[in-house]
Amino acid sequence: MRDGAVAVVGGSIAGCAFATAAARAGAGEVVVLERTRGRLADRGVGLCVHDDRAAELRVSGALPEGIAAHRLQRRRWVVRDRDAAGGRVIWEQPFPFHSYHWGLLWRGLREAVPDAVVYRQGETVTGVAEAEAGDGAEVRLAGGAVERYDLVVGADGYRSVVRAAVCPESRPHYAGYVCWRGNLDAARLAQLGGAADPAPDAVTTVCFPGGTCVIYRIPGPDGPRVNWVLYAPPPQDGQLRFDDPTSFPPGGLTPELSAHLRALLEREFPSYWGRALALTDPGDTFVQPIYDLETARTTAGRLLLAGDAASVVRPHNTSGAAKALQDATAFAEGWRRSGSFEELLRGYQGARGPAGRELVALARRLGHAQVERTPVWADMSHGEVAQWWQGQLAGAPGIGGQAMTP
Ligand SMILES: Cc1cc2nc3c(=O)[nH]c(=O)nc-3n(C[C@H](O)[C@H](O)[C@H](O)COP(=O)(O)OP(=O)(O)OC[C@H]3O[C@@H](n4cnc5c(N)ncnc54)[C@H](O)[C@@H]3O)c2cc1C
Repeated sequence: MRDGAVAVVGGSIAGCAFATAAARAGAGEVVVLERTRGRLADRGVGLCVHDDRAAELRVSGALPEGIAAHRLQRRRWVVRDRDAAGGRVIWEQPFPFHSYHWGLLWRGLREAVPDAVVYRQGETVTGVAEAEAGDGAEVRLAGGAVERYDLVVGADGYRSVVRAAVCPESRPHYAGYVCWRGNLDAARLAQLGGAADPAPDAVTTVCFPGGTCVIYRIPGPDGPRVNWVLYAPPPQDGQLRFDDPTSFPPGGLTPELSAHLRALLEREFPSYWGRALALTDPGDTFVQPIYDLETARTTAGRLLLAGDAASVVRPHNTSGAAKALQDATAFAEGWRRSGSFEELLRGYQGARGPAGRELVALARRLGHAQVERTPVWADMSHGEVAQWWQGQLAGAPGIGGQAMTP
């Protein structure tokens, strides 16, 4: 299939990848409509991509070469222990992932977008609709303009306006807990002395009653950083509401959330890690309620959902970026195979709908086990922890997303 005008709503990870895929596959016109006016790269925190997924995505062209990444090889599960500043290791498993800085990953994807693509910033889409004749879709912009395209891709993230048209019944589901996340210059760990080797190739998961915290290194624009994500229920003082994604503004901690974080670090963490995370600047510390969302459809008429717009997966699965890039790969392959937009959309729905729902279900199991119903880790043998992990996978080969089916 050649030609056709494509609008991509959202210019983040999924948006850049879809714009590149559409332009390379032969679309006549590709426009990205991104509401952010400033630098998207400044949003950056850490994320990981499984090595097998990265290899597949490099072959498909969805993951450009040369993006800074830090190699991780193993994951240590630790509990607080009076005799070990870094914690007692209750289990260690292979962890074949590379970590990325969100901003550097986005920049690599943005630079790979072909020049023919028109990337318009400061364009907020307020709604989309299928064209009456069924041969296109319309995009309404905040200024009031309406633009018509042959295909509209919703890469507009967890609060997608395109999803509202494709799957209006889908609602985000609050998991009942939040994550505090932060990052700090890895050189600051030297302030803690030689109490524990932070093992740069290891992810450390601190386990405590009612939560976990994942800590790993990421590349940064000015040198390596330590990235951490701490999952636990928020303080139950009735002041804060998390039952809707809009109910809590991203970034910035209230005094209650800061105090709760401090208490968790002091009470539950191995002393080394508690002190390490306490070195994070307040400006680099965020709180984010954990939600998930699945959709019964990823296409409707000439509308298509991509990345987090199509499904929001709890972050335990470390699959969001890989999934967004896989969506773009499936789209590009479908475009090359298809003789019409209808065929392309049917194939995409068949390939990517079930994949998104499986990721949501797996991440829910991980969240139940690692936050909502935590075991008494300190009493468990290595074998019991390994068995507990297999129970969460429930037959899935692992986390980080699955290989794409041909
Ligand atoms: C704490 C945490 C940890 C994570 N860890 C990992 C990990 O380890 N590994 C991993 O792979 N993934 C991880 N993820 C998930 C990952 O970041 C996302 O899944 C991935 O970036 C895909 O994003 P996206 O492009 O679909 O959406 P987004 O990045 O949300 O982008 C949506 C874009 O659309 C724009 N937009 C929104 N609405 C409109 C509108 N109306 N008009 C115009 N533009 C609009 C926004 O400004 C934004 O640029 C994590 C997420 C969180 C929260």
